[in-house]
Amino acid sequence: MSYKLFIPGPIAVSAKTLTAMTQPMIGHRSTDFVALYQSLQPHLQELFGTKDPVYLSTSSAWGAMEGSVRSVTIKKVLNCMNGAFSDKWNDVSVRCGLQATALKFEWGQPVDPEAVRKELATGAYDAITLIHNETSCGCMSDLPAIMAVVRQFPDVISIVDTVSSFSAMPIPKDELGIDIMITGSQKALAMPPGLALLSVSKRALDRAAKVQGRGYYFDLIEFQKNHENGMTPSTPTLALIYALKSKLEDIFSEGIVARHQRHAKLNQIVKHWGLAKGFVLFPKEGHGSVTLNCFANTLNIDLAAFNKILKSKHKLVIDGGYGKLKGKTFRISNMGDETEQTIAELIKALDAAFLETPKVAAA
Ligand SMILES: *Cc1c(COP(=O)(O)O)cnc(C)c1O
Repeated sequence: MSYKLFIPGPIAVSAKTLTAMTQPMIGHRSTDFVALYQSLQPHLQELFGTKDPVYLSTSSAWGAMEGSVRSVTIKKVLNCMNGAFSDKWNDVSVRCGLQATALKFEWGQPVDPEAVRKELATGAYDAITLIHNETSCGCMSDLPAIMAVVRQFPDVISIVDTVSSFSAMPIPKDELGIDIMITGSQKALAMPPGLALLSVSKRALDRAAKVQGRGYYFDLIEFQKNHENGMTPSTPTLALIYALKSKLEDIFSEGIVARHQRHAKLNQIVKHWGLAKGFVLFPKEGHGSVTLNCFANTLNIDLAAFNKILKSKHKLVIDGGYGKLKGKTFRISNMGDETEQTIAELIKALDAAFLETPKVAAA
């Protein structure tokens, strides 16, 4: 069962990161933990582009995504939707008993800033959710343009999911005016799943203080209170926090700018492979993700067979399409620790497997 993941999360985790997780446990109320927690903050704040605290949540990203809408919505939340994860955020908001509006775009189309403006101008909203990089269809929205609109509505708390774009390109939280910025461990950060990271503004905390029924485990106020003591509300996933420490060392020894450039370059290499074969990108032109390529299966290849060959002969796995896009698209990740060398090996395997892959009858 040894193969390498090129699906857009979870992705391959380095031996260094895995080894970091095997360190002995420490008490989560000990001075050792406080020192560890506080040592992470400067690097995390630099990566988030913020002076606000960065909380560590023992959950996958959804814990922080659900907790955030619950903690800041009093009137109504506007859910911007253009793929599976952003669609689900609307469902989650409704399940939390919140008033929520679905602002829908076709999967693969970016969120339109002017449509956001039109909705927010109704004055009905005090929160908005937005996914920067819709991993399900490989579509990246224009975050600066959308945030320029959102900033004009000071009552609206912005909650932005950067799960699959975080640390792969600049996303300066404070400069953009993002109130709550969320990411998870198993995507762009190349760690095992189970840790969410979120940075929260003072404005968002002031709002949360007025919200009833925030619960406990994902309550932003609990995170803040504990953060002030260098701790988390409940026993955190210590092993993943060791992994995070190790990953931050990697990121800062490579350099943030070099890391961004590496992602952009590797993304282009995979993109050009697909285009040269005759596929097209699924998302709208100019809105492809920097951390994955989602190709439309315009050649009608048998994606299940393709992946089976890749897995059995080349020991790697790509994604055969998310949800309703299964069989119609395929996704290849370039997140994490990939290099020109590992992507060259991937391309070689893709080429070889492609030659052996049958076509399916056109639908
Ligand atoms: C993977 C992903 C999530 C969900 O993350 P979980 O770790 O499964 O909670 C949310 N948003 C985006 C954009 C994702 O790619």
